[in-house]
Amino acid sequence: MTSTRDRPAGTLHIVGTPIGNLKDLSLRAREVLGAVDLIAAEDTRRTRGLLSSIGLKATLIAYHDHNEAERAPHLLDRLLDGESVALVSDAGTPLISDPGWRLVRTALARGIAVVSVPGPSAVSAALSVCGLPTDRFVFEGFLPRRKRQRAERLGALLSEGRTMVFFESVHRLTDTLRMLSEQFGGQREAAIARELTKAHECVYTGSLAELNSRLGVEIPLLGEFVVVVAGAHVIHSPEEAEALRVFSLLCAVLPPDKAVSLSARITGLPRNAVYRLTRKKD
Ligand code: SAM
Repeated sequence: MTSTRDRPAGTLHIVGTPIGNLKDLSLRAREVLGAVDLIAAEDTRRTRGLLSSIGLKATLIAYHDHNEAERAPHLLDRLLDGESVALVSDAGTPLISDPGWRLVRTALARGIAVVSVPGPSAVSAALSVCGLPTDRFVFEGFLPRRKRQRAERLGALLSEGRTMVFFESVHRLTDTLRMLSEQFGGQREAAIARELTKAHECVYTGSLAELNSRLGVEIPLLGEFVVVVAGAHVIHSPEEAEALRVFSLLCAVLPPDKAVSLSARITGLPRNAVYRLTRKKD
């Protein structure tokens, strides 16, 4: 996009940074952070620390939850003036429970190029080591602080069939685990990923009831946590149950796609419906 000013508009780079281990900063992130005119950072001191660890100096400007509304127009002006800007958060991927979506939205609306420089995120890191199904998942971010709202949010997730990912602070972890166990049932499988990529990284797996009882004993209440909870078991109609039974028999002797097609013909369910059923955990 060419701005109404003399130079073409600059690019907004959304740059992922480490969630604990500095070695996780990508080569491309370094290159971009070293090349842009301005880095918009959630906490400039923290980002300055990251930059100095790799021998970079840069012009930084604070961009966080509390000054987003006032800073966004300033950053847009600079982008329209042809400057290149990188947005970083304290850790991980900006916009993932971190500020930035309003800036990205406005930049896109003004025709400014927005480029991703992907890096670590506690969401993907936790999913990759939790041992729960990851083909479909839902990221719930932080649950509401107030207990009533938290209970309501969990209530709305009762029949959620996908694996659920929650961020939680150490102060609320015990309460949240107890509520999860009460509302979803103690038998539900879950994982707690603690201090990912750091020296004390640990993943604790088990039922919600087990994890609850290990909390504060075997699981230190210290550091940063992601809680991953398995989705609800899917209740099948008799027709769906029959299709799954037929599919599981045919699967032993046929390739999966043929077993799906034949199960659909035998049970009269649409092929897509049978295919979706076979992709769900039950
Ligand atoms: N944007 C970040 C990302 O992409 O990972 C997340 C920022 S959010 C404000 C911070 C939360 O992420 C923490 O409270 C914690 O739940 C989770 N988190 C961040 N780093 C973590 C780590 N190293 N280990 C476990 N959880 C982490």
